[in-house]
Amino acid sequence: PIRVRFCPSPTGTPHVGMVRTCLFNWAYARHTGGTFVLRIEDTDAARDSEESFEAILDSLRWLGLDWDEGVAKGGPHAPYRQSQRTELYRQVADELLQAGYLYESFSTPAEIEARHRANGEDPKLGYDGYDRDLTEAQKAAFRAEGRRPVLRMRMPDEDITFNDLVRGPVTFKAGSVPDYVVVRAGGDPLYTLVNPVDDAAMGITHVLRGEDLLSSTPRQVVLYRALMAIGRAQRVPEFAHLPYVMGEGNKKLSKRDPESNLLIHRFRGMAPEGLLNYLALLGWSLSKDEDVFTPDQLVAAFDIRDVNPNPARFDPKKCEAINAEHLRRLEGEDFRNRLVPYLADVYPDPADPDWTARPLVSATSFAELTQREQEILTAAAPLIQTRIQLLRESRDMLGFLLVDDADLELEERAVSRLKDSAPQVLDTAIATLETLPGPWRTEVLEQALRAAIVDGMGIKPRLAFGPLRVAVTGRQVSPPLFESMEILGAESSLARLRALR
Ligand code: GLU
Repeated sequence: PIRVRFCPSPTGTPHVGMVRTCLFNWAYARHTGGTFVLRIEDTDAARDSEESFEAILDSLRWLGLDWDEGVAKGGPHAPYRQSQRTELYRQVADELLQAGYLYESFSTPAEIEARHRANGEDPKLGYDGYDRDLTEAQKAAFRAEGRRPVLRMRMPDEDITFNDLVRGPVTFKAGSVPDYVVVRAGGDPLYTLVNPVDDAAMGITHVLRGEDLLSSTPRQVVLYRALMAIGRAQRVPEFAHLPYVMGEGNKKLSKRDPESNLLIHRFRGMAPEGLLNYLALLGWSLSKDEDVFTPDQLVAAFDIRDVNPNPARFDPKKCEAINAEHLRRLEGEDFRNRLVPYLADVYPDPADPDWTARPLVSATSFAELTQREQEILTAAAPLIQTRIQLLRESRDMLGFLLVDDADLELEERAVSRLKDSAPQVLDTAIATLETLPGPWRTEVLEQALRAAIVDGMGIKPRLAFGPLRVAVTGRQVSPPLFESMEILGAESSLARLRALR
């Protein structure tokens, strides 16, 4: 049975490349009926943080990327945080040392460089294997000087080849990878050791991860073979390295690029399925002519062997367009309910350290809203469902329905563009509406106002209704005018028309 893992290091904010890796592991597990493990690689106390850990879990839950075993869930290989597995790493390192796969190394960086210089070589060539065959007496002498050894892996003198499921066979030439450190002088185990030790202990069959880790794979392959030899691993897993994600100007998307920050996408109102869809397209596609798909469709079709090894470009415009399509396809009630967290302003803006919430509604879920708020949203959500690309746009589109008349802000630009005819248009509209019998329905409003302003005053529809739109919504671009006035009601609509007059 297939077992895959996602094993982030909890440093900084969750980013797009990391979530794409998680998504492909998840999709592969779900497609194959395998098991998806979430392990936290928190062995770097100086860089890791609880805040980052929580943000990762929060993001995965928001996206619906559920795991079968791991932190906050448990499973047969608990604990799933590496900071709690130190005993295992000590034990395995000791076994590998006894069996001769690791050796103690006392050379300092300065000594290594000096030896290269003496040989007329580039001093930055890296570790030269000097300590491979120290005698017990030599080691004792180093210890007597107060030196403490690191543990290094003894790399075999042969080419190392593995079959990458995305790129095909990959070979690292004999001698191209120096004997690398797996345990620091103080006894701290490094990523190079703990990652394969845990993958072996947890029975991981497939390692799907970013291309940035490709250079560590020959080391890990060698370590796996050693682990197999001492009975600590069943197999060398299959590897697949996912393509780089590029940003503007064809440079690797960096943590400094805003679109690399997952929380920005949530803040801006990407729906989880829209974001997952777009992230999947960074290296994979469902078919040539259909780039909008649901998580279920992704799972049904996903094969890691179909991932394209070429760098993928993150295109914010396309990302939004895909999201818009997902919003359009949502069931009406679902779409309406998803607006509420944005109207309640629950997600902090990661780009603004001084961010404070500016809620437009009284609660964070539809069921908890006041009855009036529920009525407004139920009536208004359909008006914007095909008009927005990001859920956060609903704040601008619907804000006018949710504020008191006195608090309505008028866009300066919209006001300054009003034509000279605007005051008369407003007067006519007010007079018409004051005598219009209720209830105000969209069709009745439109008919009456059209008759009075377009037909009666001879003003073109665009000029006729522009001032009304600005008065009622405060904006140049808004949901349809007459529907908006119906939702707002006679009293508020009239008050707003009078206020602009
Ligand atoms: N903890 C590693 C990282 O976040 C994951 C390495 C791996 O997937 O093998 O980069």
